[in-house]
Amino acid sequence: MVSVPADYDLALTNEIEEALKNGQINPYYQPQYDSITGCLVSAEALARWITPDGKVITPDKFIPCAEQTDLILKIDWHILKEVCKFLKQRRDEGLNCVPIAVNFSRKHIRENCFRQRLCQIVDRYGLPRNLIELELTESAMMSDLKEIISHVSQIRSDGFNVAIDDFGNGFSSLSLVKDISANVLKIDRSLLSGNCENEKERIVLEGIFTFAQRLNLITIAEGVETREQLGFLRTCNCNIIQGYLFAKPMPANEFALACSQRIISDFNEDILVAQAPASASKLLLQAVFTKFPLVIMANLTRNSYYMMAYENFTTTSCPSTGVFDDLISHGSSTMHPDDQELFSKTFSIKNLLKAYENGEKYVSVITRQLGDDGIYRRVETTDYFVKNPSVDDVLVVTLCQNFD
Ligand code: C2E
Ligand code: MG
Ligand code: MG
Repeated sequence: MVSVPADYDLALTNEIEEALKNGQINPYYQPQYDSITGCLVSAEALARWITPDGKVITPDKFIPCAEQTDLILKIDWHILKEVCKFLKQRRDEGLNCVPIAVNFSRKHIRENCFRQRLCQIVDRYGLPRNLIELELTESAMMSDLKEIISHVSQIRSDGFNVAIDDFGNGFSSLSLVKDISANVLKIDRSLLSGNCENEKERIVLEGIFTFAQRLNLITIAEGVETREQLGFLRTCNCNIIQGYLFAKPMPANEFALACSQRIISDFNEDILVAQAPASASKLLLQAVFTKFPLVIMANLTRNSYYMMAYENFTTTSCPSTGVFDDLISHGSSTMHPDDQELFSKTFSIKNLLKAYENGEKYVSVITRQLGDDGIYRRVETTDYFVKNPSVDDVLVVTLCQNFD
């Protein structure tokens, strides 16, 4: 026997159930756009009840009622299947597919075989699982924390994306975001009131985006309605934009058209594109590569490195990440025999740390390096000591420049 709340509306529940059976409840799709390029990158499926006379009923009229019983479970599974059908059809026709997010009620946490059912449905349609994202609202996560943490980590380990929905609407918990292995954070539209001109609101939003980025979460701003909001969100490095400014939720056939257009035509007219930090650092990197085709980030304390090589650098044989000592011995082996000792001594960790302790700003040397084409060229290698506020480790950025 299902327990039902006192304000339970039996007539409406029956109507919704009937509508679901008759195929009247189906997903609309709201596109989501990359905040810098304006490309359509994903979408959210939102349930709509279309009555036989063509009236569109929004979820606020039936989802809260469905949430009072297990009817919501049926709706969510139905929406997921419709989304899978839509994606499968596009794949069969060779059309581009973007990941689609489906809202899942908290009630699924207690559902028997939830995980198996989710995998079965998506696999049955032959879809890569990362084309499906599950949205779980933040407020639903506040209780049963242990259960929700394991629920989410299982879904993630099965290969699905998970978004924390409506973050900032209500009592947001930063520790919840830290503990849950979701990979997407959706910022609630209540945080975007007005045009983001209020100083305190801006500070809060900047803080949320900073911690989300540090936690490697993809950020989506919901309910973006104005260009001013968009401009501010870009300066916060918000990744993805969803809102009426670009597109309202739409039926599948219209969404299919939006997928084939893929990009918002006037998006780049906005001067803020070039000023946003995310885009500015990409541009800066491009300029750096013009002069220095090889850039290496190294952590001397941890004996590790990460290399960013531009295609025209003289030699391409070194692994792009690994042990710093190995990088130096590899680098030295590509030098002219007369320069090998100079190179390996100059860039030994011991020598670099000594220079750092002596207060040097950089260490630089010119050697002859053998290119992939068998020709020696003079290359200047400079290690700049840099600081990252979050670690005490000794870090260097290596810039390599060819002369010949
Ligand atoms: P949500 O998941 O947070 O979805 C975003 C809501 O914001 C949608 O409302 C969308 O139409 C609306 N929205 C998007 N951009 C803008 C904007 O620029 N301005 C404004 N004012 N609104 C915008 P919608 O479609 O009415 O859905 C309401 C809620 O109902 C959803 O909020 C979600 O929590 C729930 N819902 C919808 N479909 C389903 C479903 O299939 N299953 C479950 N469990 N819940 C659903
Ligand atoms: Mg949602
Ligand atoms: Mg939301």
